[in-house]
Amino acid sequence: MVIVYDKTAELTGARPRHPEKAARPDTPALKKPEWIRVRMPGSPVYAETRDIVKAHGLVTVCEEARCPNIGECWSQKHATMMIMGDTCTRACAFCNVATGLPKPLDADEPRRVGDAVAKLGLKHVVITSVDRDDLSDGGAGHFAATIAAIRHATPSTTIEVLTPDFLRKEGALEQVVAARPDVFNHNLETVPGLYLKIRPGARYFHSLRLLQRVKELDPAMFTKSGIMVGLGETRDEVMQLMDDLRSANVDFMTIGQYLQPTRKHAEVKAFVTPAEFESYGRIGKTKGFLLVSATPLTRSSHHAGDDFSRLQAARRSSIR
Ligand code: SF4
Repeated sequence: MVIVYDKTAELTGARPRHPEKAARPDTPALKKPEWIRVRMPGSPVYAETRDIVKAHGLVTVCEEARCPNIGECWSQKHATMMIMGDTCTRACAFCNVATGLPKPLDADEPRRVGDAVAKLGLKHVVITSVDRDDLSDGGAGHFAATIAAIRHATPSTTIEVLTPDFLRKEGALEQVVAARPDVFNHNLETVPGLYLKIRPGARYFHSLRLLQRVKELDPAMFTKSGIMVGLGETRDEVMQLMDDLRSANVDFMTIGQYLQPTRKHAEVKAFVTPAEFESYGRIGKTKGFLLVSATPLTRSSHHAGDDFSRLQAARRSSIR
């Protein structure tokens, strides 16, 4: 018997979002602590943001990942576009983005992203994507085209990319770096010991090397990476991962609490306390990151504009 977790899919016969997880037993669900509090969506600016995104036919990671910060971010027009469709070729155990075979690339999407960013009036934008292992360049050319389109539509906007790992895509990383985003972000997501379970299609040292390579190609480009905690990692493993990121010259690290999108996803092993997050933040700074954002609701793109200003200021003061 197939156990279907997506009730809508079950009732309508539609394809579930994560077919590879559908037959798995439910994972335990821990009760959320009081410090995981989110603002409900609903302000007029939130609705305006949603309308601009829809009018341009764009996908956002805010919606696809069911991000807990959407009420706050969209009330400030901070939407993070997810390019190259809504279907991912990987099947990570933590992620709510639908999995399967994606549609062909939409060549007009970069222009629409540029227009939407201009319409939203963003000073800083984060562009991410699904994994596109089906494309020969992993989607690097589409990233480059999107960066160019944003520069054309709104030249003063600073651009942060949050890319896939471009595993086995020769020359892909170089193509994105050559398009000169202001911040290059690639998330390690978790400690190496949990990769097989949480991020089975990826390789820890490949991701680390990718970040290191960005700095080699363009030492002035800010690099950034993030992890989720609460997946069963130990504190020592987080310390080692921080050291690994510093060895790769990564400037900015984000640490947030993992939240389980559905009972078919990896379970939350622990809710890390705000005090523990503060401690991670302090230790990260002593290890030499220009900036560390570590709170339960920290996400890669949360407050990314303000953080970019802080990054610039931190670099200026470090070279005085
Ligand atoms: S934190 Fe990022 S993904 Fe979440 S709502 Fe804000 S911009 Fe979107």
